[in-house]
Amino acid sequence: MTKYVEEETWQDDDRRWLAYRAGALHIEDVRLGAVAAAIPTPFYCYSAGAIRSAYRTLSRALTPIDVAICYAVKANSNIAVLRLLAELGCGMDIVSGGELERALAADVPASRIIFSGVGKTRAEIARAIEVGIHQINVESAAEISVVAEVARALGKRAPVALRVNPDVDAKTHAKITTATKDSKFGIAIGQVADLYAQVAAAPDLEAVGVAVHIGSQIHDMEPFRRAFSAMAELVTEMRGRGLSVPRLDLGGGIGIASGDKPGPDIGRYAAIIAETVGHLGCKLAVEPGRWLVGRAGLLVSELLYLKDMQDGCMGILDAGMNDLMRTALYDAHHPVLPLQEPQLNDAACTYSLVGPICESSDKFGRYDGLGELRAGELLAFDLAGAYGASMSSTYNSRDLLAEVLVDGDRFRTIRRRQGIQEMLQLEHGGAWERPAPGGGVMGEPVLHGGTKGTGRELADAEQ
Ligand code: PLP
Repeated sequence: MTKYVEEETWQDDDRRWLAYRAGALHIEDVRLGAVAAAIPTPFYCYSAGAIRSAYRTLSRALTPIDVAICYAVKANSNIAVLRLLAELGCGMDIVSGGELERALAADVPASRIIFSGVGKTRAEIARAIEVGIHQINVESAAEISVVAEVARALGKRAPVALRVNPDVDAKTHAKITTATKDSKFGIAIGQVADLYAQVAAAPDLEAVGVAVHIGSQIHDMEPFRRAFSAMAELVTEMRGRGLSVPRLDLGGGIGIASGDKPGPDIGRYAAIIAETVGHLGCKLAVEPGRWLVGRAGLLVSELLYLKDMQDGCMGILDAGMNDLMRTALYDAHHPVLPLQEPQLNDAACTYSLVGPICESSDKFGRYDGLGELRAGELLAFDLAGAYGASMSSTYNSRDLLAEVLVDGDRFRTIRRRQGIQEMLQLEHGGAWERPAPGGGVMGEPVLHGGTKGTGRELADAEQ
């Protein structure tokens, strides 16, 4: 049987790490059925080789134009995945204190971590400054004040970039569009230069640049071109005002193939970066998540029941929207691969696949080409390496599913399944307590060390 040879780089449709061999689905050189015999379904299974190939492909395209890659941890935050990427030299883009701890636990140096996100708490900002974070991407005037206050209290300077909302429609699903003017993300492009000047003048802040992220699962490259061109104009305008803009962070968002839509050409993406912002002399960074890990993971599930419906057959699985919520949330379609190669015959029908959760939205779509399914059969949802496990929950008090990593002919559990007994332990409630006299009273606002800064302080101080 042919052995899997790790691809140095990959093309979008090149998925040699995932193949039927002698009728059985393999990830690299591991038969998925063998993993399922050891780990109860549902579980996620990733290919280390596929993640490495994706990283090397992107890195090869971007190295000539000197763009740092900071993986968006939210896409798949398992520390084994982070470590794998960090070992290749990848930096990280985080959006919470929890993701910061994950990146640090995976031995990613703080000097390679960018902190994005629209609602960072004081505690998260403080921890980021203390560990020596590379850059905090700030999204509002109010946040600038809070970062300055926290930095001052720590006696340190915080490296701040401003996240820009360039008002560009990424032409992707509405729920993953982030840069139109009605979006909650970023600072309207017309306000950025003034705010950046305030950052540059603030003694506790270091103005290190600007950032943009226009959305996710983007196939059409033109929105990238428009957004990056707008950023180039902005940087030029800011420099014209005497401001130093050493860094430019271009965000993530590169799509992957889905259904009959091929994935974008990475060479073209790199060319657009070079053409639009290559001349600025800024230190460039990108924050891809899905592109690095999305294709490298499967969700393996057992078919529990078949049910005859008026319009065909329904398959009820042991994986639900709590395990993979992308279909319910974004209408995403994940191709399905039976672990045993399907034999197509006349009895094969179109199946609607659904999960066990008590929600009508707990369905994965309609599928042809699965052969004739039988209860007990194992099925794998493809393209599930990004925003799968990291979005999973225990809704309906279901176990938080396990994650497995395959590398060559070996596999290992990289997150064990979390069962109901562990969850119940968290709910053995504490003793009843009464607020101390003179403390917070009902109806009175209580500050949880979080929201003092209004954003006006800095603006007022500068006037
Ligand atoms: N950067 C930021 C600020 C994000 O919010 C996201 C995802 O939403 C990403 C990067 C990664 O996006 P993607 O996984 O589509 O590359």
